[in-house]
Amino acid sequence: MLSYRHAYHAGNHADVFKHLCLTLILEKLLEKDKPLTYMDSHAAAGLYNLDGDMAQKTQEYAEGIKRLLNASSSLPVGQSYLSLVDTLYRSGRYPGSPAIAAHMLRDKDKLQLIELHNTEFANLHQQFRRDARVSCHHRDGFEGVQALCPPTPRRGMLLIDPPYEQQNEYDRVIQCVKNLHRRWATGTLAIWYPLLGRARNQADGLLARLTSLKPANLFVAELWIKAQSEDYGMHGSGMAVINLPWQVDTQLEQTLPHLATVLGKEHGGYRQQWLIEAR
Ligand code: SAM
Repeated sequence: MLSYRHAYHAGNHADVFKHLCLTLILEKLLEKDKPLTYMDSHAAAGLYNLDGDMAQKTQEYAEGIKRLLNASSSLPVGQSYLSLVDTLYRSGRYPGSPAIAAHMLRDKDKLQLIELHNTEFANLHQQFRRDARVSCHHRDGFEGVQALCPPTPRRGMLLIDPPYEQQNEYDRVIQCVKNLHRRWATGTLAIWYPLLGRARNQADGLLARLTSLKPANLFVAELWIKAQSEDYGMHGSGMAVINLPWQVDTQLEQTLPHLATVLGKEHGGYRQQWLIEAR
């Protein structure tokens, strides 16, 4: 039984961080003329109504995208993300990862979107039913990406973005990356994870296990908007990336301090590191 609904969290600080990373990776991949595939193992609905009951109940977007768009200074990079989000925000909407990727990709590119929740899948499918580049799959995301990898076209990226509501999702992420990183050795694998108040060890455990798979390279970036505390739920989030495109680390280095200040005020922070250096 799947209970997680992303509409409660759309546009929060974790979405802003994740979607900025996603945009920077895609921008770099799109610099080459060759076609590419974008895969999303946990796609959710694709587009969210910030005026709707779910978003209004939590108002998480107020500490995320609303704060960023209201900031007096703009991000040094990530203009494609900001311009898309700004346009949608004016009509009370926020894009999910599939909508961001679909907006950026070209006619020759492909999107493989996987979602298990019935209602989320129906919304996703409805949104992309007329887009010939997009295939939507109503199935388990971990199994789905393994069945679809390596994709055609072979260049591209996979976003692994589970809700982490079930303890076994950490194990499933590791198993999935273990099965994929050699089979799709050129693919960029981006794994999002939460920073949870009482359980920093879960994030550290995930990173240690990803490192122990010995991928060719492994980069990690994290952003938090509150101090770690027993009382908080998610105070920040991270993105671990295998085959991060060239120079995205430099772009993040320019952007994360700004994002941490805008979203976190005096409690915000960030870090980034190559856990396994690219050769
Ligand atoms: N990637 C989306 C974005 O950035 O806009 C958000 C994804 S949301 C954090 C996680 C989604 O995973 C939820 O919609 C949930 O229904 C879905 N989900 C949970 N378990 C799944 C599974 N085993 N396979 C595929 N989807 C799953």
